[in-house]
Amino acid sequence: MQSFSEIQARAAALTLPGQAVIDGHLVAARSGATFANIGPRDGRILNHVAAGEAADVDAAVVAARTAFEDGRWRDLPPKARKAVLHRLAALMEEHADELALLESLDTGKPISDAANVDVPLAINTTRYYAEALDKLYGEVAPSAPTRLSYAVHEPLGVVGAIVPWNFPLHMAMWKVAPALAMGNSVVLKPAEQSPMSALRLGALALEAGLPDGVLNVVPGLGETAGQALARHMDVDMIAFTGSGTVGRLLMRYAGESNLKRVSLELGGKSPQIIFPDCPDLDAAAEAAAWGVFYNQGEVCTAASRLLVHRDIKADFIARVLAVAERIVPGDPLDPATRFGAMISEAQMHSALRHIDAAEREGATRLIGGVRAREETGGFYVAPTIYDQVRRDASLAREEVFGPVLGVLDFADDEEAFAIANDTIYGLAAGVWTADLNRAHSAARRLRAGLIWVNGWDACDITMPFGGFRQSGFGRDRSMHALAKYADLKAVTFTLR
Ligand code: NAD
Repeated sequence: MQSFSEIQARAAALTLPGQAVIDGHLVAARSGATFANIGPRDGRILNHVAAGEAADVDAAVVAARTAFEDGRWRDLPPKARKAVLHRLAALMEEHADELALLESLDTGKPISDAANVDVPLAINTTRYYAEALDKLYGEVAPSAPTRLSYAVHEPLGVVGAIVPWNFPLHMAMWKVAPALAMGNSVVLKPAEQSPMSALRLGALALEAGLPDGVLNVVPGLGETAGQALARHMDVDMIAFTGSGTVGRLLMRYAGESNLKRVSLELGGKSPQIIFPDCPDLDAAAEAAAWGVFYNQGEVCTAASRLLVHRDIKADFIARVLAVAERIVPGDPLDPATRFGAMISEAQMHSALRHIDAAEREGATRLIGGVRAREETGGFYVAPTIYDQVRRDASLAREEVFGPVLGVLDFADDEEAFAIANDTIYGLAAGVWTADLNRAHSAARRLRAGLIWVNGWDACDITMPFGGFRQSGFGRDRSMHALAKYADLKAVTFTLR
């Protein structure tokens, strides 16, 4: 890793991408309009980015449809599609420093996280689906001797991917890689807060030999570009990660347009439960703090509710505080920084409003609760912990999507599971215990799509990722995500 000053110099010299990628070309919006892309590090404008609207989305969908129908991608032998995706992964690796820098500038996340986590995971996702694409088998049915019946996976057609700003490139690849691997064409709409890595990805895909029109990237506002994509009559599926509010809109748009398929990965209020027989209190304390403070708390699986058994609570909270005290907001471009800026002024104020609500509702602040580094003009909120959070308090129920932890306590297993499940969400849940029976019982009883025992956020591309209840439906990662971008066709021959 380079030094802070070297990274700053590289950032200043970097050409920042701002054009859409449509039908194999880097283009401005048809209207010529742009929007200002603000850097959370200091609140200054980074660059001006093409403001895609309905006409741009339509051009991208037409290009994607044409590419799909003439088979320039989906009809290539699997070996050839695999080679293109591997070339894309190799190019991402070659440009890893640049991608990490774009990601850190755009989101305010620490450059060390962008370089060591976001970009490598996006590359790994690309390689995983490059290899997976010829491993999803169909089925031959046990039908009568006078018939031959089989079921095959077929690509859906044009997939619209609408992605958020917390892990822009990584979330994009969770959708783009399996959708392309399956033979679909894609129109990617990055979040307006963080468009740059997706735009660079679109250009690198062309360099890798992905045929024109197969991956289009249209930046723009959610209300305009996002809505136009989700209402488009020729888009077969919308794959989404983001807020529940927009998730609801997408289902409505699908109902009001062409009944396109929708998959939703939404938020959560994920509990981490510390039982008195926790095998490693220090490791659990690290996980309790980093589970909610990693990426400034802007993580859908953030462990935002800490449930601690009363017998060990005082000791455990002291250990968590010791970790939290060392997590100090810093300049995202400094390689020593482990906690950076929030994505936007709006998101910072939203976190501060949640903090105000916690104060009003009588929770006890243990640390943080304030804006930090205000003199930089950037959007920083100090890591914050509240104790004595009531079960019905907003901090126990509403997603903050910021660095705010609420602590609740419990007396026995029944109470722990009841509190953990007392939410509209169901994305992730964690337990720390040395008792196998208790761990298995927790894995069965917790209503969440991801269960972690004695560790938090054990992230692996081979495992399905997604939520129960209002955390959404449909899965990213694993072979399940590949199947998500396919329809199943049942073929029957009558033999004579
Ligand atoms: P959002 O849901 O508004 O944005 C996510 C994506 O949806 C962006 O690309 C945006 O442009 C697009 N979008 C917005 N309105 C749209 C519309 N009408 N039609 C189509 N697309 C549209 O998220 P946000 O406002 O940026 O963040 C608000 C909250 O969302 C956060 O506080 C957090 O709770 C949640 N969130 C969750 C995740 C996650 O990973 N699950 C990620 C980001 C945000």
